Amino acid sequence: MPLVLPKAPLAVLPVAVVVLALGIFVVDTVTELEVAVAVFYVAVVLVAIGAFRRRGVILVSVGCMALTVLSYFLTPVGAPRSGLINSLISLAAIGVTTYLALKIASAEVAMHEARAQLAHIARVMTLGELTASIAHEVNQPLAAVVTSGNACLRWLAAEPPNVEKAQQAVGRIIADANRASEVIGRVRRLARPAPLRKEWLNVNETIQEILALAMSEAEGGDITLKTEFADDLPPVLMDRIQVQQVVLNLVVNAIEAMAAGGGQARSLTISTARDGPKAVRVSVADTGVGLEPAALAHVFDAFYTTKKEGMGIGLAISRSIIEDHGGRIWATAQQGGGAVFAFTLPTSRAEVS
Ligand code: ADP
Repeated sequence: MPLVLPKAPLAVLPVAVVVLALGIFVVDTVTELEVAVAVFYVAVVLVAIGAFRRRGVILVSVGCMALTVLSYFLTPVGAPRSGLINSLISLAAIGVTTYLALKIASAEVAMHEARAQLAHIARVMTLGELTASIAHEVNQPLAAVVTSGNACLRWLAAEPPNVEKAQQAVGRIIADANRASEVIGRVRRLARPAPLRKEWLNVNETIQEILALAMSEAEGGDITLKTEFADDLPPVLMDRIQVQQVVLNLVVNAIEAMAAGGGQARSLTISTARDGPKAVRVSVADTGVGLEPAALAHVFDAFYTTKKEGMGIGLAISRSIIEDHGGRIWATAQQGGGAVFAFTLPTSRAEVS
């Protein structure tokens, strides 16, 4: 059963905001008016940015301003004129910090949205490249349904009708129809712009699910597809669709690199293994055109492409997805041709300890 991301570290922040604000208020009130303690409320606003949404941050900011004014009137000692100037400076500092912090936060949200949109476009593009193989994936079970349907009719038309054989044929029809609808379900999940949703998942199953889509494309290109999955892998906290997108991207690239490559045997190997005690490693190795040292340095750059129809964003997006998951992605050239693209994903803390 998927577990949800622990929320504990975030729950601490609202408490920190309140404690910090009250601490500053007490110190500001008991010290003389000349001591500009209230300026430290900017720290409260900065912590609030990580804890609340826009409206919450504004409320915290207004609260800090109110406490600044209250302290000014409650402080019994000091020069009122200096105290007034200090309070006005603090109020301005709180206001400006709130404004800038909110601007940065909304720019970050916009950046995230833009990246999600780009990832979606890349995914749909990759899917476009896979359309032929998806059609093949769906066509196969549909053709089998027709064959079994005809067989069923024949068994029923026989004299006497062979009900047992007819029942078996209907069983095959149901199984094949389910297979076709599973393929369509997978494609729909991939094509949908999904919000980020991390769950503890089995890496092998997640990869296997997406490989089913790429498999027939590999067959079409006369490619031998091998999987070498380690069976002792701990679960990984990940967004299934995003990680599948990365694998799909690496597999499509490998298939294209082999289509462009010379006459050597075309072989695609997808392997999983533990990478030290705290990570799982996924590798996609091909026997395609390979990578020159100059290309190695740039393959993950946005808009780097050597393909006529290429966009050069697949690997850039893959890298940002993997880094978002706390992992690493890299490429190496294989001796004797071909490339290996590999990435790591951190495993659950419970497994590590
Ligand atoms: P695109 O596929 O649109 O070019 P990518 O970001 O996916 O964009 O890939 C960038 C470039 O990296 C490719 O154009 C190609 O030159 C190189 N590359 C990616 N995968 C491989 C591979 N398996 N073998 C050789 N070169 C590759």
